[in-house]
Amino acid sequence: MNNGEITIEKNTASVADIVRGRFAVTDKNVYALYKPLFKDALGVCVLDSGEQSKTLATAEKILLQMAGNSLDRKSVAVAVGGGVVGDLTGFCASVYMRGIDFVNVPTTLLAAVDSSVGGKTGVNLDRLKNLVGAFHKPKHVHIRTDFFATLPERELICGLGEAYKTALLDRGCMKAWNALPEKTDSFTDFSAVVEACVRFKKSVTDSDYRESGKRKILNLGHTVAHAIEYLDGYERSHGEYVLMGLIAESGMAAVSGKIRRDTYESIRRGCLSIIGESGERKVRFGFSSSQISNVAMHDKKNSGGRISLIISEDFCQREYLLDKYEFTKEMEMWKSLL
Ligand code: ADP
Ligand code: ZN
Repeated sequence: MNNGEITIEKNTASVADIVRGRFAVTDKNVYALYKPLFKDALGVCVLDSGEQSKTLATAEKILLQMAGNSLDRKSVAVAVGGGVVGDLTGFCASVYMRGIDFVNVPTTLLAAVDSSVGGKTGVNLDRLKNLVGAFHKPKHVHIRTDFFATLPERELICGLGEAYKTALLDRGCMKAWNALPEKTDSFTDFSAVVEACVRFKKSVTDSDYRESGKRKILNLGHTVAHAIEYLDGYERSHGEYVLMGLIAESGMAAVSGKIRRDTYESIRRGCLSIIGESGERKVRFGFSSSQISNVAMHDKKNSGGRISLIISEDFCQREYLLDKYEFTKEMEMWKSLL
């Protein structure tokens, strides 16, 4: 198998072969649901599930188990889980003996379409998300879509938010997205959407591994999304905040004449079909425009003290920068739009 290969299949059974004789990392929920897949592993590290596990302390626990299982420079670690497991395993693989290979088996729709390729790994430092980490690409990514059948609805919506964002960036993804049935649930066949999203993300991240240029377009909707999720205390899933961010940012771009009004209306309709009216109410009325711009001023993507925003229209993207005053004003104009 070539380096960087991505396989997408339906059935989860082949994961047992991927894990066989290797050190695997997973979390309690995934382990409880899919225990037989790990029976021939060299060792299994089972983490508590959820974002609160993404710490240096958990990384130390994994590294100690890697050492305890006598992994050497030629060993391969396998992550079987959502984004938390993938980020932690990738990070530990990047530093264990100065770097060993890892294979990623994403079990959530979000991890499959968003974090499984691209090579960003890391942990949070206190409340600072992903502050400590490394670029370390998985050797292979194996996506098995039957994993999604056990996902809670919230996790599914989270993945759909990022998938729709990717569809706004790439014509191929939009085609696959449009072919989905109107009502999706965890049993929907997402393979075509996942495949299109992953190929697109791989092509973007391969061309700009360290996020100095093109990779920024993947942050569509994310400036407002990050601000709202912070203000809202991360109560909803990341994908829902991304959908809110897409509505607000495209609305701001439309009222200031950077994109057409019909582009905004179509993005808004697409987002509302996933999160519903309550999501729009949250981003429109939940926080004042200046509260949002205050938080957006701290976004990692900003440059020269100005807030970075991405716009996408007809599958073409560009970045533009606004100072705090301009950002607040555009948001106010969007909010007053009927
Ligand atoms: P992400 O949403 O970034 O992928 P997590 O790794 O936190 O984040 O996964 C989200 C939640 O879904 C966790 O509670 C995890 O245990 C759970 N989970 C992961 N994969 C599955 C699955 N296939 N079926 C059910 N629950 C899962
Ligand atoms: Zn995101």
